Amino acid sequence: ERAREILERTKERETNKLGIEAMDLLDAYGIPTPDGAIVSDKQAAVDAAKEIEGNVVMKIVSPDILHKSDIGGVEVNVPVEEVASTYDDIISRARNYQPDANILGVQVQEMADLDAGTETIVGMNRDPQFGPLVMFGLGGIFVEVLEDATFRVAPVSEGEASEMIDEIDSAPLLRGARGRDPVDEDGVVETIQRISQLVTDFPQILELDINPLVATPDGVEAVDIRATID
Ligand code: ADP
Ligand code: MG
Repeated sequence: ERAREILERTKERETNKLGIEAMDLLDAYGIPTPDGAIVSDKQAAVDAAKEIEGNVVMKIVSPDILHKSDIGGVEVNVPVEEVASTYDDIISRARNYQPDANILGVQVQEMADLDAGTETIVGMNRDPQFGPLVMFGLGGIFVEVLEDATFRVAPVSEGEASEMIDEIDSAPLLRGARGRDPVDEDGVVETIQRISQLVTDFPQILELDINPLVATPDGVEAVDIRATID
């Protein structure tokens, strides 16, 4: 099984953190992710960008840099002509920031439709008392400022997952406030359940965050992940 292989591989490393190199884990559990590739040289970055329609997002890939934008490790909306120079910029900012970081490369990723979508978060941490707590909330400033999030113990049923959406104060933002089209709630419910299944299957996942899971009227896309593995 693919997810097991990915998790076994982390055991051989000196860190128990996983960043976007763990996107495959989501793939293995049927959670939609944007097209993309992790590359380790400029030319490969340009080739990867040419495989993707439109401008791309580029991100530093390192288990030692889990807050990528804080160090200038994320560039969105990069046209293909700027991919090569952006590759160099991202790598050098990362080296500057943390000379001993294990840099695996740069991810070249398709753009998610943030104009039509809302950034949400699906996460999990293990509570000593309750066990695996699956979290759902809005992403960006909403979760940090309003602390608008809700929790259930895994395994989370379909009914519980939809209750989680009902429960957050900012649910109207997902349901067509400000004249926008409502997002694909089924996609969100399914993602919550799939994460619940993943962390139930693999107790060695101590912590996991999809931030953001971009929810649009047409579906959901997990554009970022980090995890801590035992
Ligand atoms: P980090 O959380 O480590 O800073 P992210 O991958 O979450 O890195 O990227 C930071 C922000 O950049 C996201 O919250 C989102 O607003 C934007 N972003 C990242 N990936 C994409 C993408 N594929 N399409 C559109 N916006 C993106
Ligand atoms: Mg993020």
